[in-house]
Amino acid sequence: MLTVHNPVHHLHAGRHEMYRGRLVPCHEVPDRLDHVLAELKRRPLGELREPGEVPMDVLRRIHSGRYLDFLSRAWDDWVALDPANAQVDALPSVWPVRGFRADVLPDNFAARMGLFSFDAGTPLTAGTWQAARAGAACAVDAAQAVEGRTQRSAFALTRPPGHHAGADFFGGYCFLNNAALAAQTLRDGGFERVAVLDVDYHHGNGTQSIFYARGDVLTVSLHGDPRTEYPFYLGHADERGSGDGEGANLNLPLPRGTDFKRWRAALDTAREALVRFGAQALVVSLGVDTFEGDPISSFALGSADYLQVGRDIAGLQLPTVFVFEGGYAVAEVGVNAVNVLEGFEKGAA
Ligand SMILES: [Zn+2]
Repeated sequence: MLTVHNPVHHLHAGRHEMYRGRLVPCHEVPDRLDHVLAELKRRPLGELREPGEVPMDVLRRIHSGRYLDFLSRAWDDWVALDPANAQVDALPSVWPVRGFRADVLPDNFAARMGLFSFDAGTPLTAGTWQAARAGAACAVDAAQAVEGRTQRSAFALTRPPGHHAGADFFGGYCFLNNAALAAQTLRDGGFERVAVLDVDYHHGNGTQSIFYARGDVLTVSLHGDPRTEYPFYLGHADERGSGDGEGANLNLPLPRGTDFKRWRAALDTAREALVRFGAQALVVSLGVDTFEGDPISSFALGSADYLQVGRDIAGLQLPTVFVFEGGYAVAEVGVNAVNVLEGFEKGAA
């Protein structure tokens, strides 16, 4: 399996996120990716390479022009307010909730931050844009390798993650939706029906919202029940898609404490939905924060279970692009993620 990894991911290194009234150290740290890359070097699954550049028009297939304009200039705008800002991360603190207008772009920087975000846990730093854009390039490059049939499967190893980012907003540690960009690349390359399977602990709200009204991309997510788990406001079972996308969204929310037996039964339901949909290619949002030792999540999967997850996904026998998402038990994240990939390779053999 080809791995395309982000050589500049460390340029995005947030200092703090807002949690219960305090600024606490970020959970989403550069070490996460380094552990996965080290594990892939210890247990090689195939070629490791860095991506080329991703053209802006490819990003515009998923993200709005005004959001990309904001994101690409946000750090410079932040520091232009006050040179001392270079020493702290930018975090939003005001949002246009129900009844406010989102169509008028404010001149005020804090107001723009709020317009294009949905939480105060996602710091924007000096290198965020560069790291996120190179990450998007990893996803597009991996998808092109699969779409061009030079690879049956590929892994986009990148951070910041992507599945919480919508067409015009960031949040949940995510800025550009790498999985959505991979799915669009597969569609543009000729696969008529593409599925995104999100196995991260958290609901892939960004991916769902991007494809919600489209019938050509099925989005399926297994996740902690949003009544108690982040991102709270999306991910319920009754969200089935709209318009042309009616029936092309499936949410499988699960309670805190879910073990592998119950989680795997939900994966079976997801796999059946993919088969019914007639998916010709697959993108997997690969978060391993379902791990029992994850510090911010509450499922109980063990490291060995991830081998079975990979085998189960391989059973779909689809051209597959894995995109790295969450997983915050930093010391174990490499073993757990590579277990999925190794299980997939063995299951596909
Ligand atoms: Zn997650």
